[in-house]
Amino acid sequence: MAVGWAKDGAVQDQIDAGIQDAVQHARQHLPRGKSREFCEQCEEPIPEARQKAIPGVRLCVECQSELEKHQSRFSLYNRRGSKDSQLR
Ligand SMILES: [Zn+2]
Repeated sequence: MAVGWAKDGAVQDQIDAGIQDAVQHARQHLPRGKSREFCEQCEEPIPEARQKAIPGVRLCVECQSELEKHQSRFSLYNRRGSKDSQLR
């Protein structure tokens, strides 16, 4: 049964590498160009400096940090799905 244990370890390594790739991939494919003037989540105005600093920004600072807290617990794939369902 030692073989099964070793195999699990290898699979875990592959999963970790996959998450790294997914994070990099998601960062490269963030929406660019048009920043939102108002937060998608709470509709507070997004400061112009932030709009310029983050091309394609959609959330205010508060909502962004809140989202990132949640993202550490959910997969990027789930996030992509829920983002679509929130579009108006
Ligand atoms: Zn907000």
